[in-house]
Amino acid sequence: MILLLGAGGQLGRELVRSLAPVGALTPATRDGMGAGGTACARFDLSLVDGIDERLDAIAPRVIVNAAAYTAVDRAEDEPELADAINHLAVAALARWAARNDALLVYYSTDYVFDGSSGRPYDEHAATVPLSIYGCSKLAGEEAIRSSGCAHLILRTAWVYAPHGHNFLRSMLRAAHAGRTLRVVADQFGAPTSARYLSATTARLLDDVNHRGTSGLRETLHVTCAGQVSWHGYALRLLERASALGLLAQAPPVQAIESVDWPTRAPRPRYSVLDCDRLATRLGVRAPHWHDEVDATLLELVAGHCLFQPRTFDARS
Ligand code: NDP
Repeated sequence: MILLLGAGGQLGRELVRSLAPVGALTPATRDGMGAGGTACARFDLSLVDGIDERLDAIAPRVIVNAAAYTAVDRAEDEPELADAINHLAVAALARWAARNDALLVYYSTDYVFDGSSGRPYDEHAATVPLSIYGCSKLAGEEAIRSSGCAHLILRTAWVYAPHGHNFLRSMLRAAHAGRTLRVVADQFGAPTSARYLSATTARLLDDVNHRGTSGLRETLHVTCAGQVSWHGYALRLLERASALGLLAQAPPVQAIESVDWPTRAPRPRYSVLDCDRLATRLGVRAPHWHDEVDATLLELVAGHCLFQPRTFDARS
């Protein structure tokens, strides 16, 4: 049985769809309410001391942890909470997995890197997180590796979905409201759809079903292909949203520098991940981020995304 933690998040909701064919799935959220108001298992990662007991009761063979403290700026003011959820709780999951021969799947971030490189980071690149969030996610990674449990650590970046809090939806909302758009043009990464990330997770777990978990201790980079600045990303998504009828017209987007958009937590300037290892492992290359943005916008147009109303409301 697969226990999916964080089933109500933007990745978690996509995983509910993608993992269903892979094995019996138990989705869990912090409060026991799934997206759309459906009841599911309750699993609060901030209650670190209770994690063993909860896992004993559920007895999963695979734990997919899509739950995390993801408020990058707020983490600077709540370091203990970020550390409890992204590190201490993950360490408890990993220890339980090691004792019970379970597989732990964990999502980590491009923010474990400082962004000083001029070329894509591979899995062996030195990690130097700039923020509390990045430090807490890296500590989660390290706790998993030192636990000895079978694991897949999937580092990803710039995640978006047709639902939840993400850049794509923020841009659509701001454009719809007629706000002036000023977007940072000197930070580069690879926008990655939650649907690609969840489909890749399903593929990897399918592979594990065939090969088994013996000796599986792997860190992989998983993003869409290509790279772009936040500004270039905004231009492209707004232009496509306009072409697809989600917006009356694509508004102008002013390119600014990071210094003109100060944030509580520093971000890496360049956090493109080298995903060759995953491509070799699965024998397929990642889709280009352009294509995945188009596909996600089409989902919004069609209202086909899970738990979404049929008409996209840019104000929601
Ligand atoms: P979301 O913020 O959309 O989802 C995170 C989920 O975690 C939410 O459903 C949240 O529930 C849940 N959660 C938070 N605290 C707890 C808790 N104490 N107990 C149980 N659940 C909790 O994040 P994403 O789906 O975007 O992120 C998925 C993974 O990918 C995370 O590990 C993240 O670090 C990683 N990642 C994300 C990136 C991004 O750009 N978003 C980039 C790189 C990595 P609630 O709604 O109740 O708070």
